[in-house]
Amino acid sequence: MQQIPPLWLSPETHLARSTPDHPILYFSPRVLHEVANRFQTGFPGLVTYAVKANPHPAVLSNLVAAGITAFDVASPAEMDAVRAASPDAVMHYNNPVRSDAEITAGIDHGVASWSVDDASELAKLADVPKSCEIAVRFALPVAGAAYDFGSKFGASPEEAVALLKAVAEGGWTPALCFHPGTQCEDESAWVEYIYAAKDIIAAAGVDIARLNVGGGFAANRDGVAPDLERVFEAIARAADAAFGDDKPLLICEPGRAMVSESFTLAARIKGMRKAGEVVFLNDGIYGGLVDIRDMGLPGRVEVVAANGTRRQGDRRPRVVFGPTCDSLDRLPDGLPLPEETRIGDYVLFPGLGAYSSAMSTQFNGYGLSDVATVIELSGQASS
Ligand SMILES: *Cc1c(COP(=O)(O)O)cnc(C)c1O
Repeated sequence: MQQIPPLWLSPETHLARSTPDHPILYFSPRVLHEVANRFQTGFPGLVTYAVKANPHPAVLSNLVAAGITAFDVASPAEMDAVRAASPDAVMHYNNPVRSDAEITAGIDHGVASWSVDDASELAKLADVPKSCEIAVRFALPVAGAAYDFGSKFGASPEEAVALLKAVAEGGWTPALCFHPGTQCEDESAWVEYIYAAKDIIAAAGVDIARLNVGGGFAANRDGVAPDLERVFEAIARAADAAFGDDKPLLICEPGRAMVSESFTLAARIKGMRKAGEVVFLNDGIYGGLVDIRDMGLPGRVEVVAANGTRRQGDRRPRVVFGPTCDSLDRLPDGLPLPEETRIGDYVLFPGLGAYSSAMSTQFNGYGLSDVATVIELSGQASS
């Protein structure tokens, strides 16, 4: 019989019972369902999930349970993960550079929508069934994203016009897509793209049924929940204004914002030096904290003693190193920890569901692989 893993009340209860000596992610399916519902209620179109943010089987199966029917995949391994979660999930293969073997895998998996951003990539898709959608990915130089995705993928608007015509002439269902970047705090990024999509369609003289507005929705980084509804409304208003009655079906593919709040990462303090100025954790930038290196320190961390109680006291900024013997394995300076913090305590990082376990390595024999399921996550702005 299939084993059902235990459900813990909270990270604190699990830490106090088992005092793990390795880093752990605590997953609350309830929080994931709430966020999925928020997207499905507020976004004016089809909500899909970008698997790369966190491909854990429990994430995918809970999203299916929450009513998510389509997934953005980038590789055959992600297709397998989605298929394992749902036999009839719809797949959008939105990694625009593919080997021939990957294209065959996508055809075998029944991928419904493919994105392209270059004529050389469209030429490779000759065997893709004509019943499929091919979405031309375009990119604008956009301020406001934490990374500039446009520097890697995306046709210029002029190239997109030619590609859109070529897709229509090839007999596939033409569509457009873009991805404004990640942790995009300003909705004007989507608005600019939506108006650019309108111009591309007009210049190509090709009608499209669907416009994929990508992911990039911001997660809670500093204790202030991002106003997703404001972004959804701005997208809806821009699409109405740009397209009127000819509005294509909108699609979004959040990764980070969908999954981040449903996980808290717990890392244990292995050592402290210089009167607590310097702290060594059992996880770091080669493990589940890699995204912190790029995104900056989170504004909300808690410290929990081995008996599960919260450490108190004034906070002061510490230098925090990870467990590997590599001097780069260091968080951006100044993580504020309470005065009472001691060796053997756990540092809890809320909002670490995205780009954490997915990017963790086994470097030096460390890394993040353990997930425990909890009812409540502590340290959330909402609780
Ligand atoms: C990574 C990615 C996403 C998800 O981005 P988030 O910032 O995690 O929301 C969506 N679409 C595409 C094409 C991506 O590459």
